[in-house]
This record gives sequence, C-alpha cells and structure tokens, in this order.
Amino acid sequence: MAQEDTFKKIVSHCKEYGFVFPSSDIYDGLAAVYDYGQNGVELKNNIKQYWWQSMVLLHENIVGIDSAIFMHPTIWKASGHVDAFNDPLIDNRDSKKRYRADVLIEDQIAKYDEKIDKEVAKAHKRFGDSFDEALFRQTNPRVLEHVAKRDALHARFEKALNDNDLQELKQIILDEEIVCPISGTRNWTDVRQFNLMFKTEMGSTADGASTIFLRPETAQGIFVNYLNVQKTGRMKIPFGIAQIGKAFRNEIVARQFIFRMREFEQMEMQFFVRPGTELDWFAKWKETRMAWHQALGFGAENYRFHDHEKLAHYANAASDIEFRMPFGFKEVEGIHSRTNFDLSQHEKFSGRKIKYFDPETNESYTPYVIETSIGVDRMFLSVMCHAYQEEQLEGGETRVVLRLPAALAPVKLAVLPLVRKDGLPEKAREIMDDLKFHFNCKYEEKDAIGKRYRRQDAIGTPYCITIDHDTLTDNCVTLRDRDTMQQQRVKISDLRSLIEDKVSITSLLKKLQ
Ligand code: ATP
Repeated sequence: MAQEDTFKKIVSHCKEYGFVFPSSDIYDGLAAVYDYGQNGVELKNNIKQYWWQSMVLLHENIVGIDSAIFMHPTIWKASGHVDAFNDPLIDNRDSKKRYRADVLIEDQIAKYDEKIDKEVAKAHKRFGDSFDEALFRQTNPRVLEHVAKRDALHARFEKALNDNDLQELKQIILDEEIVCPISGTRNWTDVRQFNLMFKTEMGSTADGASTIFLRPETAQGIFVNYLNVQKTGRMKIPFGIAQIGKAFRNEIVARQFIFRMREFEQMEMQFFVRPGTELDWFAKWKETRMAWHQALGFGAENYRFHDHEKLAHYANAASDIEFRMPFGFKEVEGIHSRTNFDLSQHEKFSGRKIKYFDPETNESYTPYVIETSIGVDRMFLSVMCHAYQEEQLEGGETRVVLRLPAALAPVKLAVLPLVRKDGLPEKAREIMDDLKFHFNCKYEEKDAIGKRYRRQDAIGTPYCITIDHDTLTDNCVTLRDRDTMQQQRVKISDLRSLIEDKVSITSLLKKLQ
C-alpha cells in the first residue's frame, strides 16, 4: 500500500475510533486545530505521564511547574520572539496558496535524496548479495551527479538562511524550477517574513487594554520562574525544570493532520548547568531522550538525529530526533543548547539579578541551559503511525489492529461476558469492579464475541477477557492477547498480577534505568 494511502487510513481511523476529531466538526472544522476524543485523550495522557515520570520521578534534580499561558508582553521582546519568530512565506499567484519558502526548498533537497536512494535500490536488485553499497555510492556517476546538485543546493540554502536573504530564497525556488503542487506553475510572489505569534487583548479598553501574546513555546514560562524554583526548591546546579502545556503558532502552512497544528501541546525541560559544561550535557540529553523514544520498541531504524547547521539566535548546538512517519523522517523532538541567552535577556529586560552562586567554585554566574522540547501531538502521531496495521488472517479475513505499547493503550483490559444472560454480565461486572482500581477496563456486552475482539483490536486494547458459563463454576476466564490472538484459561484471582505489570508506565520507566 502506498504510504500516502496508509496515512489517509490512519487519519480516518483516528476519527472513526474516537482518537482525534477536527475541531468544531459540526461547523466543518477549523484549519489545523483538532480535538482529542475518548480514546485519544487516554493515549495522550499516557504519553504525557510517560514523559513526566521519566523526567520528574527518575531524576532527583528535575522538578515540574505549570506556568500560565498569558505572560507579560515584555517576555516575548526579551526572548527575541517579537523580532525574530518568523517564517519566510511565499504565495503562488495562480493557486493563491501560501507556502513556507524554506519548506519548499527542503522538499527539493529531499527529492535529490530520494533519487539517490532509488539508484541504490535499483543497483541492489541488479547485483543481489554481492552488492557493495558504499562503493556504489562513491563511484556511480548518476549518484555522484545527484549528490553534487544536492550539496550545492544545500550550501546555497544554508547561506541564504544565515544571511536572512529573502531575495536569494526566492531565486533558489526559481532556479530549481520548483512548482506549486496545486497549480503546477512557477508564478511566485516575493518571499516575506511572517511572525507566528497570536495576539490578543487583555483588560477592557476603558482600563487601557494591553496587547499580549499566546505563548508560542512553554520554555519562557520556565525561564521566568528560574529564580522562584531555584530559591524555594533550594536547587543546586545542575538541575532541571519540566513543564507540559499548550503552545500556539499561527503556522503558515498547516498540513499533515496533527503534525503541524496552530494550537498544540509541548513537553519541555530546561536543564541549568555550569558554563563550559553545556556541550557535555547536550550530548548526554541527546542520548537520554533517544533512549526514551526507543524504549517504546518501535525499532531503532525508525529514528535518527538531525544535527542543525543553522542555529537559532540563542543556540550553540541543536539536534532533532526524527521519526520515520509515512511521509518521511520528520522532527518529533528538538534538543537545544541555548547558552545563557534567555536568562541573560530576562535579566536585562526585567532589571532583576538572575544569577546562581555556585558553592563549589565560589563563583556567581548565569547558568547555561540545555533544552529538550517535544510535541505531545507529534509524539501521538508517531505512535499511531507505527501502531496502525492491517493484517491478513487465515481464511482470507483482515483485521485492523493498533499495536500500541501496552503502557500507552487507552484501555488495558476489555471485560466481555459471552452472552447477555445466565448471570454472566453480573459476574463480569464483579471482576471489573475489582480490577478498575488498578488499570483502565472497559465493559462490553453488545455483538458477537468476534466482533467485540475486533473493536478492541482497533483501539489497541492489549487484553480481553471472556466470561463464559464455566466461569461461574471454575472461576476462570479466557484471556486473549491482542498481538498473538492467543487465548488461555486463567484464574480470575491471577488476572491482576498477569496484567498490571505489563500495562503500567512503570514497565516502560524500568527500561530507562
Ligand atoms: P518545525 O521546524 O517542524 O516547525 P520547530 O523546530 O519550530 O518545528 P520547536 O520550536 O523546536 O519546533 O518545538 C519543539 C517541538 O514542538 C517540535 O519538535 C514539535 O514536536 C513540536 N511542535 C512545534 N511546532 C508544532 C506545531 N505547529 N504543531 C505540533 N507540534 C509542534
């Protein structure tokens, strides 16, 4: 199945099974804004819990906060967002569609990479086991030609970005003959800068309302609380502050479902360190965060680091963790070495002294910061994309199954009486009333048992139990495993110990130790 078709199926599956709905659905939706449904919210909460506990429970020197979305407007001046939180946009005059100029060029670079990969795959097929890929990449004239074009484009693009040269960005688009995917034409406007922050008014006009911004990242809420937390928590450097919360960006092109939204959620952690040690910590956090992703068991080959060449104004190193989505490797998390930029700027703009006195060195300094920043929604999307599978079963049947890590699954156990009579529902309720305190259980009695299993497969429930007539006398149930579909007879009294460990967030956290 083409990757695009798979992605479409995942999007409709998300809607059909109560994971994600378009916002304001009965009013035909609101562009790039989404709501999470009854199953989506559980999965999302589990992802957040996995992240939060991995930060706050597993690190004695990391604490959490929950800062407000509205903040003093000067914060965004100090952070550089008012002046520099821009994307370069370009319009196609024929389709009237708007694009990010940098994304059009990045897609073009990816096309060269695809051409190279195609040549390699073709040769691999031709030469079979004796194929020497490294040698082929170094010597094949067609590959070398694509590499040369790719590298030249990349260098030109990087320079244009670093120089903030909007005219050159347009020229690259023209020279590469990039066309609008809708109109197919090259009738482009000039490239302009567009600030991504949403504005609103605070206070009534009579009081003299002031313009404030919806935060485009949660990080600044951490920086402006650095002093409060450090002092009241008696924190010693190195230490971190973690936060989960909503962020808002007026994205120029919002596409790919919940990958790029205008209202989304971030999980960010700022780790304050002694100046000069930041690059060691940066390396350590890259490793720690990659391990967190890989503990989910999606396969190491589906992740990669992408080190940034163009660094943001505040950073001295940056790397993304990318995940293989159906539409290519895409950023899910950013790890940034933000120097002491933010704290110094807030010191300057607020007039407050923001320093740390280090009792070990007897020095006072502005701490350096390593940031890990991951989008909850992008993480959610990567989990869904990996979990969604259509399986051919014996007898020609197919089933759609979400192979979610059990610890993230919305429902852990479905409790299913075989029939709706003979005291089986009552027995099922009794079991459910006992287990519901330990993990999320769902009771279902409607439809044939096979149909009920399929419904649970489709929402990723790792276990189902069936209560039948024998249960009333032997106090055993049939336990069915989502992935293997194997069934075994187990004692009701063993259910909790059989299931609880496998479905708890603790099981994931233990892999990180
Ligand atoms: P991109 O280059 O894709 O716009 P970014 O580099 O601007 O992302 P950061 O500012 O580093 O992203 O934000 C950290 C994380 O927040 C990202 O890795 C991503 O997971 C998430 N994120 C950022 N923008 C969005 C968005 N519009 N919708 C959903 N998640 C987002």
